[in-house]
Amino acid sequence: MTVTDDTTHIVRPTIGPRQLFIDGQWRESTSGARTDIIDPSTGRTVTSVAEANAEDLDTAVQAARTAFDDGRWSGLSGRERARILHRVAELVRERADEIIAVESVNVGKPVSLCRPVDVLTTAEQYEYCAALAQTTSGSNRETPLHAHAYTRREPLGVVGAITPFNFPLILSSSKIAPALAAGNCVVHKPAEDTPLSALLMAEILTEAGVPAGVVNVVTGKGSTIGEALLQHRDIDKIAFTGSTGIGRHAASVAGQNLKPVTMELGGNAAHLLFADADVEKAVGAIIKGFVFNTGQFCMGGPRLLVERPLYETVLTILGEAVSGVPVGDPFDPKTVVGPMAADKHVAKVEEYVQIARDENARIVTGGERLDLDGGFYYKPTVIADLDNASRVVQEEIFGPVLTVQPFDTEDEAIALANGTEYGLAAGLQTGNVARAHRVAAKLQAGIVWVNDWAMLDPAVPFGGVKNSGFGREYGPEALESYTKVKSVVISLD
Ligand code: NAD
Repeated sequence: MTVTDDTTHIVRPTIGPRQLFIDGQWRESTSGARTDIIDPSTGRTVTSVAEANAEDLDTAVQAARTAFDDGRWSGLSGRERARILHRVAELVRERADEIIAVESVNVGKPVSLCRPVDVLTTAEQYEYCAALAQTTSGSNRETPLHAHAYTRREPLGVVGAITPFNFPLILSSSKIAPALAAGNCVVHKPAEDTPLSALLMAEILTEAGVPAGVVNVVTGKGSTIGEALLQHRDIDKIAFTGSTGIGRHAASVAGQNLKPVTMELGGNAAHLLFADADVEKAVGAIIKGFVFNTGQFCMGGPRLLVERPLYETVLTILGEAVSGVPVGDPFDPKTVVGPMAADKHVAKVEEYVQIARDENARIVTGGERLDLDGGFYYKPTVIADLDNASRVVQEEIFGPVLTVQPFDTEDEAIALANGTEYGLAAGLQTGNVARAHRVAAKLQAGIVWVNDWAMLDPAVPFGGVKNSGFGREYGPEALESYTKVKSVVISLD
């Protein structure tokens, strides 16, 4: 089966109870504990997964350590690993419908978007990393020593990969694919609420030929097994994606153990709309930037800054356009915005909208839950007239909420854009090429988009500055972060 745009045949799947994947085997947790997995579009239980404890986590780390040390994966040539990673990508494409159904029922993602975004990106990440696996190499070093000096790029060993709830498939692949390409073994802990696609990927990796023990998936709570993974002495690197608060803790534990980390943390990006932009096109990008994935998007653009002459006009256009965005059942192919992934996320959005109301802000559209089939829905919401110091502007809401503020000058727009603790993404809409380059250079963010939003590709690195983290995923930079450099100097005497 190949990837097509047709999603009409994809229905809610029936999923049996899932187990831990350790050393190539499916097993119950030693405690026998299980966690219910909820369909966010109905609030009903879909299935349950095994809830691991520290003992299970240790078993997984030991399996990965043995697999790394005996060379069953690290000992393969880059080309042999690439062949298997290519097969992973093929299987992701072949099993696309099954993956979409699982990801949609677990996260509430509209099936129509899950295919072009989550499935295709995952397949392309494996393809891109398969290419990189064949290019990992050191280099010769010119030296006055009477010696042949060169560097080798070697895998780090066992990688602990911790991922958040919002893009389970893409974010686990953005760690596992480069880690495997470089020859590492992995213990993956997905988010407790949305682990189903990680378990499905364990099946796919095995079918593709990844040997037992090379990738282990351990499901359960962050406070127990996430913590145990951070603390484990046999882990050689922590690759973490999640909130800034937990990331700060994870980085400090890793620092204590002197382990390398990559930290992909929270975001609160500004989207700058200049009066010289193509406004009609810009509005499409602005809406995509904050409703995509129901606003549960670290790289979303929830803060719109509009050059003052356009301010009221843009609010009117946005009010009409946003209220017309189709919100509903993720399994309906016409749906653009599904439910939030859990009820607690809707409650958080409600709190922020209440703060806005208390501050006498203008709710241009939305501002309330959508009562639909018991699901966790919130209407896409636009809020104007907030002060820049408001918590609604400064903090990461992580829901379908856009705040809109006016600006008078380019310098003011840049200052407002840079005026939060975050620095993951930013973007601007302008018809002026010189301004595009000038402003892009001044925005404090790991990635800047001009005249569109969320243009992401496995070849283009992304990651944060400031409290959005450090390290880069995607691109050759990602592969490098899963290797260490060894220098070899051979005397010619
Ligand atoms: P979270 O920080 O609550 O959880 C992330 C992961 O950490 C989960 O697997 C969780 O179980 C685990 N965890 C929790 N406590 C832990 C502990 N003590 N030790 C080890 N692991 C622990 O984040 P979330 O709510 O799942 O995801 C939303 C956040 O992730 C947002 O802030 C969002 O911006 C961020 N995010 C960032 C990126 C990026 O690329 N920068 C991408 C997606 C999401």
